[in-house]
Amino acid sequence: MRFLITGGAGFIGSHLAEALLARGHDVTVVDDLSTGSLTNIQHLMGGEGFQFVRESVRNSSTMAVLVQQCDVIFHLAAAVGVQLIVERPVHTIETNIHGTEVVLRLANKFGRRVFIASTSEVYGKSTKVPFGENDDSLLGSTRYTRWSYACSKMVDEFLALAYHDQYGLQTTVGRLFNTVGPRQTGTYGMVVPRFIRAALRGEPLTVYGTGEQSRCFCHVADVVRAVIGLIECPAAVGEVVNIGSDESVTINELAEKIVALTGSASEIRHISYEEAYGRPFDDMLIRKPDLTKIGRLIGFKPRYSLQETLGEIIEYERRLLG
Ligand code: UDP
Repeated sequence: MRFLITGGAGFIGSHLAEALLARGHDVTVVDDLSTGSLTNIQHLMGGEGFQFVRESVRNSSTMAVLVQQCDVIFHLAAAVGVQLIVERPVHTIETNIHGTEVVLRLANKFGRRVFIASTSEVYGKSTKVPFGENDDSLLGSTRYTRWSYACSKMVDEFLALAYHDQYGLQTTVGRLFNTVGPRQTGTYGMVVPRFIRAALRGEPLTVYGTGEQSRCFCHVADVVRAVIGLIECPAAVGEVVNIGSDESVTINELAEKIVALTGSASEIRHISYEEAYGRPFDDMLIRKPDLTKIGRLIGFKPRYSLQETLGEIIEYERRLLG
């Protein structure tokens, strides 16, 4: 089969491309390299069955050719990362909504099975933990740019479900929770690569707010296994499914773990969200998925513990530093 991965030069997309090629499939990656990078897919270039097209998903004439040529689409291209969202809100909203419109319209035209990557951001500040797929969302005021990301991805979800309901298009929406692993960049706000790089360089680890907010970090290999499992699962068609780990850690504990695992002398420093983002910021205290549905659909359970995942990323970052 030929798989089209939008955003395939990104962190998750490049791991997905690798996994599909390893299973003997052909892969076309379309990416405008806005946050993705050629270094993520350099090792795949020129390989049998692999094709890279540098283009935005918003270019519907190029996308029409690529969609027609493939059997299945993984739509991962999006503006992601809290830092990017806060700094370039127009770009975020337009890319996320328009890109998905183009993908779904073409998938429907050519009758292609499609996976739409969404995000745990859509649960917003809900305090009903863990988050189940049918739970209500609780987003903050439009005054906080952060929520524009959740809103844009909710429109994507509505559209994917609408194409399924109205036209019978085979769509599946995956709500990805915090995903980490080798190749993730800290440039756009992701906490794990930022802390690990700071610890390895002996620089302070900067915790935003009290540090008592918690997250569940899932190894990218587990996420990729889940995404492939869902696209192969007929019962997942027309469904929204959480993907991630349910092992919680506070950001304070995360910082302490990373300092201990790297043997770093770095200090852990706390700063306010205003200092971090240059404006007021509305963070969520707890973010944890209910994994019952994905367990029922494909028997998914994360294989990597947080400890193992952090160890692997530290090794990877150490090698990069030389
Ligand atoms: N965070 C932090 N220091 C950083 C980057 C992030 O303390 O350098 C915090 C951030 O405020 C959030 C958590 O770590 O509470 C996870 O942030 P990330 O951007 O990785 O993911 P998300 O907020 O989307 O879950």
